[in-house]
Amino acid sequence: MAAAALWGAALLLGAGPGLLTPAQSAPQAVAHAAAHAKPQGTQPSHPAAPKASPAANLAEPCKQWVPRLPGLTAAQCSALKLQPSGTRSVQARELWMGDVGSRHAPVKVLVLGAIHGDELSASTVALQWMGLAQDNGADALWRFVPMLNPDGVMAQPARRVNAHGVDLNRNFPTPGWAQEAPRYWAQRTRKDPRRWPGNKALSEPESRFVHDQMTAFTPDLIVSIHAPYGVLDFDGPTDPPRRLGRLMLDPVGVFPGSLGYYGGMHKGVPVVTIELPNAQRAPLLAETRQMWLDLHRWMGEHLPAKTASAAQPPRAP
Ligand SMILES: [Zn+2]
Repeated sequence: MAAAALWGAALLLGAGPGLLTPAQSAPQAVAHAAAHAKPQGTQPSHPAAPKASPAANLAEPCKQWVPRLPGLTAAQCSALKLQPSGTRSVQARELWMGDVGSRHAPVKVLVLGAIHGDELSASTVALQWMGLAQDNGADALWRFVPMLNPDGVMAQPARRVNAHGVDLNRNFPTPGWAQEAPRYWAQRTRKDPRRWPGNKALSEPESRFVHDQMTAFTPDLIVSIHAPYGVLDFDGPTDPPRRLGRLMLDPVGVFPGSLGYYGGMHKGVPVVTIELPNAQRAPLLAETRQMWLDLHRWMGEHLPAKTASAAQPPRAP
């Protein structure tokens, strides 16, 4: 099926809703936190969130995703044929996934979109890449999880954290997490409720799902798509890609509990972190395709990583 033809049609038409509810802004979040101030060291407060209805869980995901995600049509989404993973979010939303490529391929790649729920374009790009892989990705086995934090994406307004108020990208079991993650949150972020790491590592079904995928799928590469900083980051034992499309390598730092720190530096699995330039608007397909081509070129030169089994000693965060 020419999934790419569907994306191409969208490009010709200049398609893409683009008009969405603005994501939760930092000032709103801070005001919210102030209204629910708690003693030092305790979690930020979040209103109880209703569970998704059973009918919504069973529905094909595109019905919910297309109105929410920028630059995505129903035809494009449906052509991808996403499958239920069997794992649900805190609010019981299915974590949908899709495998593309050859099971005998020498390289396995796990692509994650929207671990932060207010980075809507991240899901779109993961879906766009899935369409490209279906037409052109037989050189690897790709596993796509386009919307890792569906509760955050579907919240009104969308929010970075999951339904427990946890920043999933601070919830991975990096060395010394129990001391470092709460301390970093309290001291460096000043208890930013958008960056709360949770009460313990892997406390959340969404982060446990990624952890389980690393064990069961054993990816040679993890690509995690974010927005809106417009850069490329990398953690791992190989030389990083210098650029993907217009995004240039610019390491953003190491954070206790982040996937890059856990996967790339602690477990020795290269983690490419993409920061798209806009959280609300998807890149043009030509740009998405160039990023895909650049990643392929880098993969051909660097994977399977010769030193993947020898994780670098973790740096102090
Ligand atoms: Zn992010």
